[in-house]
Formats: sequence, C-alpha cells, structure tokens
Amino acid sequence: MTNVISSTIGYPRIGEKREWKRALESFWKGKIDKEELLAEMKKYRLHALRKQKELGVDLIPVGDFSFYDHMLDTAVMFGFIPERFRGGSDLLGTYFDIARGNDEAVASEMTKWFNTNYHYIVPEIEADAVPELTENRALYYFNEAKSELGITGKPVLLGPVTFLHLAKGFEEKDIDQLLEKLVPLYIQVLRELEDAGAEWVQLEEPMLTGAISETDLARFKRVYGKLQQEVPGVKVLLQTYFEAVDHYEEVVSLPVSGVGLDFVHDDGANLAAVKEYGFPEDKTLAAGVINGRNIWREDLGEKLTQLERLLEVVDKDRLIIQQSCSLLHVPVTVDTEDELDPLLKNALAFADQKLEEAAILTKGINQGESSIKDKIIAQKQSREALWNSAARNRQDVRNEMESWEGVTPRRPTSYASRQQLQQQFFKLPLLPATTIGSLPQTADIKQGRQNRRRGKWSDSEYQAFIEENIAEWISRQEEIGLDVLIHGEFERNDMVEFFGEKLEGFAFTRFAWVQSYGSRCVKPPIIFGDVALTEPMTVKEIAYAQSLTEKPVKGMLTGPITILNWSFVHEGISSFEVTKQIALALQKEIKYLEDEGIQMIQVDEPALREGLPLKPEKQEQYLREAVYSFKLATSSVKDETQIHTHMCYSEFGEIMDTIDQLDADVISIEAARSHGEIISDFERNSYEKGIGLGVYDIHSPRVPAVEEMERNIVRALKVLEPRQFWVNPDCGLKTRGIEETTAALTNMVEAARRIREKV
Ligand code: GLN
Ligand code: ZN
Repeated sequence: MTNVISSTIGYPRIGEKREWKRALESFWKGKIDKEELLAEMKKYRLHALRKQKELGVDLIPVGDFSFYDHMLDTAVMFGFIPERFRGGSDLLGTYFDIARGNDEAVASEMTKWFNTNYHYIVPEIEADAVPELTENRALYYFNEAKSELGITGKPVLLGPVTFLHLAKGFEEKDIDQLLEKLVPLYIQVLRELEDAGAEWVQLEEPMLTGAISETDLARFKRVYGKLQQEVPGVKVLLQTYFEAVDHYEEVVSLPVSGVGLDFVHDDGANLAAVKEYGFPEDKTLAAGVINGRNIWREDLGEKLTQLERLLEVVDKDRLIIQQSCSLLHVPVTVDTEDELDPLLKNALAFADQKLEEAAILTKGINQGESSIKDKIIAQKQSREALWNSAARNRQDVRNEMESWEGVTPRRPTSYASRQQLQQQFFKLPLLPATTIGSLPQTADIKQGRQNRRRGKWSDSEYQAFIEENIAEWISRQEEIGLDVLIHGEFERNDMVEFFGEKLEGFAFTRFAWVQSYGSRCVKPPIIFGDVALTEPMTVKEIAYAQSLTEKPVKGMLTGPITILNWSFVHEGISSFEVTKQIALALQKEIKYLEDEGIQMIQVDEPALREGLPLKPEKQEQYLREAVYSFKLATSSVKDETQIHTHMCYSEFGEIMDTIDQLDADVISIEAARSHGEIISDFERNSYEKGIGLGVYDIHSPRVPAVEEMERNIVRALKVLEPRQFWVNPDCGLKTRGIEETTAALTNMVEAARRIREKV
C-alpha cells in the first residue's frame, strides 16, 4: 500500500443532542435501569463509529468512548479504586461513586485536563497499591466494533506514564515501583488485543509535550521497550497533543511503531524538528494537521502544503492524517445548526466536519491536489467571506484599540492610598462579610428565564419578576447581616453566555455542546466579529438592588480572560487582540456602573489559570497579557471605586505574582476545599491587598457550623492581617437551595462577628 490514510484520535461522546447526558442522568435518577443505560450507551457508541466510517475515516478509534471520563476509565480498568469505594459488587456503580460520591464517601477530586476546560477525575493511588485488570475495556470495544460493524478499530488507551503522572496519592520516587506493577497489565491488554486481531493501538502520552526530565525520558524508554519486547505483534502508536514534544529526537526514537504529533498547537516547532532531524524510517507519523480545538474550517490548500513538506521526509505509506487532538473538545456537528447565518455557518467545522476534512486531505494527497480543488476553493471562500465581513472589520473598534496602543493601563494611585479613600467611603467593619455573586437559581428562577425566552412574558413582566427576586434577596441579605450585598445574578444562566448575548461580535449555537465534566456540558459562545458594547449590560439590575439598601451592592461582571477562554474565538485574530476588545467593552460597562453610583465592582476571572500555556517559556507572555487586559478593563475608575475579582478551581501558587499585578483591591478565592495549601501560597508571597479565602465549600448542601468557619478564619489570620481579610464562601451559590444558603450565610456572618470581637 502506498497511500496515506486518515485517522481520528478520539470522538465526542455526548451525541448530537446530548443524548448521552440525558441517558446518564436518567440512570442516576433511577428513571432507567442499568440494562437500559447499557443499551443506550451502546447505541450512541455504534452510531459514532458508523458515522466516522461513512465520513471516510480509515483508522477509527475504539475505546475512546466513556461513561464519564477516560482517566477514571483507566483507573478502574486497572483496579485503582480508592479504599472508601471498595467492596461493591457492581463495577459500574463503583465507577460512578468515585466520580460523584455517595452517602458515605466524598467523590475523588476533579481537575482540568491540561490546558482545556475538560475535567478529569484524579486517580487516588497509594505507593503500595496492587493493580489488577478488572476488565479489558479496549478489547471489549474492539470486539464490539468488529462484530457489529465490521470495523477493525484502533483501540485507544491512556499510556501508563502519563496516567501515573496525573494521578495522586504517592510520591515521585514511587513511580517506578508502580510502573513495574502496571506495565505487565498493559502487556496483558495488548496481548489480548493482538489475539483479537488489532493492528494499531494508540497509547496517549500527552505529558510528552510538557517539560519532561531525563528521568521521565528514561522511564518512557524502559516502559515502551518492555511493551515492544513483550508484544511485538501489536503496533503501538504513541500519541501526543496540545503542544510540540519537548525532546523531539528522543521521543521519536522511543521503541514504538508510530508517533502522533500536533502540528497545530506547536507554533511550528514539530514541523521544524521533523525537517531538521528527520523522522525514523521504521516508524509511522500520525500528523495532527487539522485543528482539534477550534471550530473553524481549515485552509485546505495550506494544510496540503504542510503535508507535502512532511512527505519530503516521510513516505506516503508511513503517514496518517488526523486532527491535532481528540475531538472531545469540540461540538459534534454543524449540520443541526439551522438558525445560524450562513456566513458564519459555512466557516464552521465541528467534529464531523473535521473528519470530512481529514478525508478530503487524504484524497488530495493520494489522488493529487486537483481531485479536491473544488473543496479547497469553497473552504477558502467561506473563510474569507467571514473574515472580510463588516462585523469583523469595525472601524470604531479599530480606532479605540489604536488609542490604547503603547499605553499601559494602571490605576493612578497606589493601593495603600486607594485603600484609605475606599475605607473612608465604605466604612466597612473589620472582616467584612460578603458573597461571590450568584444566589440560588431555583426552579422558579429558571422557569422565569424560560418564560422570557419562549416569549410567554413581555420584557416588562420579566423585568418585574427579576426585580421581585432581587428585592427579596436584598432584604434577606440584610437580615443575615452581610456587609456587602449582591443582586444575585438571577437574570444570568451562564456567566459568559450572558455577556456574549449582550455584546456584539458573538454568536450562539443551538447544540454546540462540549463535555466539561461528567454529564455536564457547556455551550461556548462563538466570537466571530469585533467585540463591542452598545448599551449597558448590567446596570439596570444592579442599580435597582442598590436603590433598596444603604449597604454597598457589588457590581458583578465576568472578566476579559474568562470570557475569551470560555468562548470559541476566530483564529485570524490573535486572542490577545480579542481580549483587549472585550476589556474595552467592560471598561465602558464599569463606567456606566460608576455613573449610577456603584463603587464596588467585581470582575470574575475563574478561567485565568486554566489558560496558562503548557510550555513554561510561553507562560510569561500569557500572564503579562492577562494582566494587561484585566487592567485595561478595570483601571479607569475613581480611587474610591473598589475593584474586586474572584478565582476558583485552580492552583494559585505559581501565579501569585500575577494575582498581585492585577491590582484588584480585593480578591476572593476558593479555599475551603484546600485550605492549608492555599494559605501557604499567601504566606510565602506576603500579599498586601484585600483578600477573601472562602470559608466554606459550596459544592454540597451541607451547612457548616459557626465553629468550623471560625477555624478557617483563624487559620487565614495566621498569615494575613485582619484588616485585609474578607469573609466569604468559596464561590457563587447558584447551585444551592434557599434554605441551606440562608443557614450557611447566617453561620458565616456569626463566625465573622465572633472573630471580630477577638482581634
Ligand atoms: N460571580 C459568579 C457566581 O457567583 C462567579 C462564578 C465562578 O467563579 N465560576 O456565580
Ligand atoms: Zn468561583
């Protein structure tokens, strides 16, 4: 065979209309039984395989499907089940318990998958754990695809080294000992796959694109050498993604049959390395040339050129054309989007369109460029039409951007002086008690928003409904005794979508969902044009709330970096430019709020940390740009105006300097879940500004006792000055109920009072 073939690294699990989510949730609620769940899941799995085949994928992945998360799949497959979940007779039940917790035991920790918004379940592994193969799921799915559809799939598994690298519960020095026990199980899995007729097996080792040490490299050499030696009949494809590999020459010389590289997010480094060092003649190169993270159609001509450059080094029969990473991170198909402007729709490629693109490029290489000429031209035209559209070329936005060129936004007065002025203005007590922004989004609230969406309510009816809820909660917050109040965010279903809908340059889809964690999916807005603000977005609600109380009401906005990171952004413009456009829009909104007398304004940046590049050498620039954008949005305020920010779900240690540079007067951070760790970050960094380290976890309905929160405050006061400390929950309260929220906040205020008397 002298042809190139196409492949997929992984395909979305959730289905065209989130059928997968619905089946899972019905099962959890007891509405369907296990048998029905298994049947549903099988249906979605086979549908996805069939579709990939129809769309022309030559080498189709199997085993990328999951009932929750692929890290958890790997952990359970190898018997890494935390002690507190052991003993159950039903493996699937145990699997869900680890992910979601049960009455007796808390769930395993969840964290973000590399630089994505996908969250995986962190395996808990003790150094002396004894792994065992509970099920060969790769084999099961391989056999299923073969017998049901006649597809000889490419089983995919997370590789052992990255798997342990991402797990916790043991020390670095224990890794080799654990690998020694784990590798024989991988060998067994590969042997069984070989016997079943598998040709290629994809072992994913994304950690190879991070900073890896000599020890890591030696480990890879040992582990993969062992696999090759023990199962020479199976071809291992070592798959990397999200960046250029760290040690190209060493990685491509590992004892495997193929290596998968990302030629999209590598800033050209992988291609340059292939050209400079060549590619081993005995190996296959799986070339990730189609962007697996964005939603735009490719310039196929350009991709063809890129492939031709690779073909100068690698023979055709040793090249596989694929996406840069699993399609888990993009929506399923553009076909169901029947309400989108064709100008935008034609420029979009979700998972299915990306499979088509792989097939087109494969044809282009095998049969010559002329065989795909029409497609090349059509896609180029669609891209350019959007690119040249009026929405993408707004003179007003351009002019404003230019006016900031060379200017460094900063608050004119130092924090110390601002703080005095703000204190004179607000006269807050020591340890002011506040919350993060959202209040319980009850069924009633959601129904109200739906009535509006479906046109059942007029704008004024809806507005009255929102105001009723604001008023109710303003008086409730006063009764509870909070010092700084919030309006409650009842008018928002999502902290990014809400702003996207009000700003120009954003588009919204009907079904473009992406899995975030477990059954939870998000539908990121699409930023396709220049971003601009035409009228105030939040002023009405916040000013109304403020009109009802003497206490300060915090304005509530989502920050530029979070809006960017949680959207799909057009690739023809640098993301920094887009962030600046968003920041300028927010700057105006903040001005509107100030003009209405709102002088405490919170700008949330929960996604700041997740956007941090994987390569250490790129991190500084990202952080610098993040700081610039935040300050562009927030620095043009009066000295008396107090800027707050909030962050959560992240490790902050390494970005403490950045947090300081944001120059927010107050920051609130999720901390109750990991109190000790976060506090030590602040200890080391002598942070001076206002700070609230969440004193209770908001992820469960549990109402923490006053004493428990007192302890958390006391712990924080060991490293922070009482004058800097704010008392607040970990995060917004939108997922909680009214009663538990009222009770917890009442206890929180009492805890603040008690400590206030003592310091
Ligand atoms: N203000 C938002 C809220 O309270 C913040 C959400 C978040 O940090 N993820 O819901
Ligand atoms: Zn939060």
